Amino acid sequence: MNVVGLLPSELEDLAVELGASRYRGRQLATWIYRKGEVDLAAMSDLPKDFRARLAERAAVEVPEPERVTASQDGSRKLVFRLGDASRISSVLMPDDDRLTLCVSTQVGCGFECRFCLTGVMGFARNLSASEIVGQVLAANRLLEGGQRVTHIVFMGMGEPLANYAALVQALRILTDAKLGLGYSPRRITVSTVGLVPGIEKLGRENLKVNLAISLHAGSDEVRSQLMPVNRSWNVETLIAAVRKYPLAPRQRVFFEYVLLDAVNDSPEDARRLVRLLRGVRAKVNLIPFNDWEGAPFRRPALPRILAFQSILLDAGLTTTVRWSKGEDIGAACGQLREPVSA
Ligand code: SAH
Repeated sequence: MNVVGLLPSELEDLAVELGASRYRGRQLATWIYRKGEVDLAAMSDLPKDFRARLAERAAVEVPEPERVTASQDGSRKLVFRLGDASRISSVLMPDDDRLTLCVSTQVGCGFECRFCLTGVMGFARNLSASEIVGQVLAANRLLEGGQRVTHIVFMGMGEPLANYAALVQALRILTDAKLGLGYSPRRITVSTVGLVPGIEKLGRENLKVNLAISLHAGSDEVRSQLMPVNRSWNVETLIAAVRKYPLAPRQRVFFEYVLLDAVNDSPEDARRLVRLLRGVRAKVNLIPFNDWEGAPFRRPALPRILAFQSILLDAGLTTTVRWSKGEDIGAACGQLREPVSA
């Protein structure tokens, strides 16, 4: 068993099982999550016999990056080789005073969005809460000079809401202010292809994390072609669920919209999006398509991207164009695919 990925309260239970007090469990949580320490020998305020009993029962394991690749733009891709030899990646992206980590929640993905390379690779398995939290702990360990990841986006490989239990467990550990990593929920964003039951459930958890919707089209006709999931929950059902997602006073829902040349990037598409998001507390992130070998799409020319954005801005929608980071190292949105074997 790996204790990384257990809730602080579960670490307290474990301490009791090992014949110690709950306090020892809290100390253990503090070492692992607050201080990022994984070496039992370094946990000097824990009694030796407690550490010995713990070591018999469990391990304290954080995944080691197998490879770290640096991009021209300052971002870094971390590739992890997991216990079963499958590989996942996380991407570290510095931006002014922010340091954002993009984490994976599954090995591969089963939703087959046509423009996404991870979708093409197919689904292998869910990550455990340990493997999700482990990506954050590993990134923080890698950083020099007391730096720490400041923001976390669940936008790596996989569909977070299709791995619901592990996602929520990880979010609780990441946001626990006393014994967890202590991230403000407002610095965490969960992105989804639009699994409506998952969105409703997440809203009821009272986690207060940001929600991002991979929308990519304002009509069912286009969206169903791009994203097969739209046949289960269509645009109308999706937007209705988003309207009910609980938001703090100045919080908004993010909408991601990958711009594909001559597919979803016309002025009429932009106006349709404006109508759809009327009255929704939304922020739109336009993502010019990132190319991959054999992709059946192209990125629109710059004037077309800017024209699309102008229509949204003129309608009063907060809209940014998100030029992906790490394109040169295969770390940009939709480019994450790691070989399975060797
Ligand atoms: N499965 C979740 C989490 C992944 S987020 C979700 O889809 O929301 C990754 C984002 O990158 C999604 O918005 C996805 O649609 C987008 N994306 C996928 N392929 C892309 C590509 N080739 N170029 C630009 N964005 C892409």
